[in-house]
Amino acid sequence: MIGAPETHSLLLAIVMICVVSSVIWLCMATVARIAPQASYCVAAANLAQAASIALLSLSGRAPDAWTQWPSDMLGVASFVLLHHGVQRMTRGPASWPLTLGSLLIVGLALAWLPGVAQTALALLASAGFALAAAASLRSRPLIRNDAERYAFVLWAPLLLTGLLLALRGLELGFFPGTLAAVRGLQLLDDSFLWIAIVVVLLQNTSLAFLVLLRLVLRIQQLHESDVLTGALNRRAFEAALVRAHHDARRNEPYALVMLDMDHFKRLNDNLGHAAGDAALRLMVQAVSPCLREVDRLGRLGGEEFAVLLPRTSLAGAALVADRMRTLLAERAFAWKGQAWPLSASFGIAEVEPGDANAEAVLARADAGLYLAKSQGRNIVQSV
Ligand code: GH3
Ligand code: MG
Ligand code: MG
Repeated sequence: MIGAPETHSLLLAIVMICVVSSVIWLCMATVARIAPQASYCVAAANLAQAASIALLSLSGRAPDAWTQWPSDMLGVASFVLLHHGVQRMTRGPASWPLTLGSLLIVGLALAWLPGVAQTALALLASAGFALAAAASLRSRPLIRNDAERYAFVLWAPLLLTGLLLALRGLELGFFPGTLAAVRGLQLLDDSFLWIAIVVVLLQNTSLAFLVLLRLVLRIQQLHESDVLTGALNRRAFEAALVRAHHDARRNEPYALVMLDMDHFKRLNDNLGHAAGDAALRLMVQAVSPCLREVDRLGRLGGEEFAVLLPRTSLAGAALVADRMRTLLAERAFAWKGQAWPLSASFGIAEVEPGDANAEAVLARADAGLYLAKSQGRNIVQSV
């Protein structure tokens, strides 16, 4: 029965794991300030889970009304909070009114249902939120490149949790007769509790890994991007270019566009350096709509940028560059009420079979840019 010493030890173990996990997530939110909102949610989810299980272990000793509804409700709340936390971690659509509203509806439905049906619904609702959290993790891939195939380590524990809860819920919903009399025992048999321990540990570890991954991605992004414009910095752009050149040997051609703002010194001298900075940011904004997700825009230095266009020919690069040129020239720029026309000159090149390295292609694009400058600026040229 529920009073069996081993069952009690297992229950106590789960409660302890949840409480310790909750403290760790609280430290994450308050001391380390890592994803604080999400971390608070997961801390609260662990606490709710601990309280739910602690109350469940009292069933049979205290009146059912005091233990069952609060325990079921806290169980659901734990998964609702977990779902909300995951949405925050993945920058998904997390909304408190929606989260609390759905919890209220489930709560009312639970209060209305009798005995075992109540617990069955609580388990199914919890399963629903766990599965929704797993689905939102799966649909927003945080891992890129080669590591993508290991992304399941993030969502699999939540999927497993959801399936286990759904199984228990269905079992309880469809075979309530046998289980009703010994609710505590059937719901909390030892094998289920052992699985629950593993699942709670897996869940917390995978979420901690997710937060860590988000942090690593952020650091990586800061390491790779230019502070002023948000474009790739020179080092990151060159690394992407070397990769593209390597792929070119596998019959994946690429093209380059180099661009340099026209008479930028004049702008700086007349409107000041801050205006020049604003113009650079505006330029990046203006040309970005021309780029596909696979294209890479990098700042090579000063007011000189380059765009890497994978699987693109010289003709394709000419079209992209001309669109960028037009968009920039049409963009109105003003500083403290003074309008200033912006334009840039463009050089383009595509990889050719004889190119020993990417620098050879970059040098051709640069020669095209030089030609564009010498021919009067605000044009696209190749050599
Ligand atoms: P051209 O049309 O021939 O390219 O003329 P230009 O004046 O644009 O060319 P030049 O290379 O002589 O001048 C580039 C200027 O860009 C010089 C420098 O003051 C300015 N510059 C470089 N980096 C920055 C930056 O980060 N912010 C600002 N505001 N200006 C920058
Ligand atoms: Mg210039
Ligand atoms: Mg320049």
